[in-house]
Amino acid sequence: MKDVRSAEILCVGTELLLGDIINTNASYISRRLAALGIPVYRQAVVGDNPERMRQAIAESFSRSDCLILTGGLGPTCDDITKEMVSEYLGLELELNEEALERMKSYFSSTGRTMTKNNEKQAMSPRGARVLQNDWGTAPGFVIERDDKTAILLPGPPIELEPMWRERVEPYLFERSDSVIVSKNIYILGMGESAVEEKLHDMMMELTNPTVAPYAGNGECRVRVSARAKDAETASRMCDDLIAEIRKTEVGEFIYGIDVDSMENALVLSLREKGLTLACAESCTGGLIAKRITDISGSSQVFLGGCVTYACSAKEKLVGVSHETLEKYGAVSEQTAREMARGVRLALGADIGIATTGIAGPGGGTPEQPVGTVYIAVSTAEGEEVKLLTLSPKRSREFIRICAATNAMKLALNT
Ligand code: ATP
Repeated sequence: MKDVRSAEILCVGTELLLGDIINTNASYISRRLAALGIPVYRQAVVGDNPERMRQAIAESFSRSDCLILTGGLGPTCDDITKEMVSEYLGLELELNEEALERMKSYFSSTGRTMTKNNEKQAMSPRGARVLQNDWGTAPGFVIERDDKTAILLPGPPIELEPMWRERVEPYLFERSDSVIVSKNIYILGMGESAVEEKLHDMMMELTNPTVAPYAGNGECRVRVSARAKDAETASRMCDDLIAEIRKTEVGEFIYGIDVDSMENALVLSLREKGLTLACAESCTGGLIAKRITDISGSSQVFLGGCVTYACSAKEKLVGVSHETLEKYGAVSEQTAREMARGVRLALGADIGIATTGIAGPGGGTPEQPVGTVYIAVSTAEGEEVKLLTLSPKRSREFIRICAATNAMKLALNT
């Protein structure tokens, strides 16, 4: 049997077309397939209409060998996905006794009565592999016919997601004679388009391993995936390519491999170095402390933080001098420096970090537009302050997230 090399997703449901529900199934399946290194060529949505469904199925199969369908497997007469796929592949439907028994026990265990039309859900295309549904009633199916594969899954995400993990992924692994390993490179300070430009040739030329950039919240992530006969070989192929990427201009902006997030990278690094951290936050309003304490085990390295929003709080809690605030203002290099030093000394930490800036949308001036943020780090050796000039068009949330991430990076590099 051949590996699944590419797929299309067809989500069935008139509610999706009406915009009543968001198509989370398509994004879930796409993400899971991407992690397996299987490219998705197209996603589509179709209503419960036989003619349009027929057309959509035929179109998808004319381009791709594997079609994943979600929804329309229920008991009512407008649930016709299975019927349409079977018709296209020329297969009869027959009763699957095991699916029927499972459905009966599911109904009795949930105290519901099974009606006659539920039996429709236990009808299986001849020769199909039934994906038993332990999370609901309608089973899913894998149908292989000639070189075409259809994977049918129920619509409710609460059923689809565990079925994907527990039934579909094992099937895809079983079918595959190779393994895929992916590693993620975390980058801060270089935008997605710049990263893409620097890695363009690699992205275009390489087919194994592959390189794909992703962006979000002012950060960039590059996923490297390799396919090989065993995990060790695939992992080594990824490492070799990551070493190549480190040699490019992107290299200096890399802050971790498979670290998940800046806060996680920071906590891991502080733990390794045996250092402690404290933070004084103005424009980030506690976001740094929140993100660090989201990481389990951060108590070993994070002592605490102050939200010093008003000038009086900057003076009273972290000892910023009145003169500094008067002379340079709350959003200034000097204030950021004193905040970082003050919180470090107040809490007796090895490292202090601070943020002060204008998150907007109001409060900007021509000299200090929205997006102006000072971030500072303080250690026993001294302080370092950086000015971020983020776009004033960015949302308040984005500016705060970026400020927090960059302040944590200062601490990471210390
Ligand atoms: P059921 O046995 O519940 O009838 P089904 O396979 O027939 O399962 P649908 O009737 O198509 O599924 O959808 C049931 C519900 O699942 C929808 O009302 C919606 O809440 C959710 N759902 C369906 N498709 C999607 C999707 N693509 N993304 C997110 N939710 C979905």
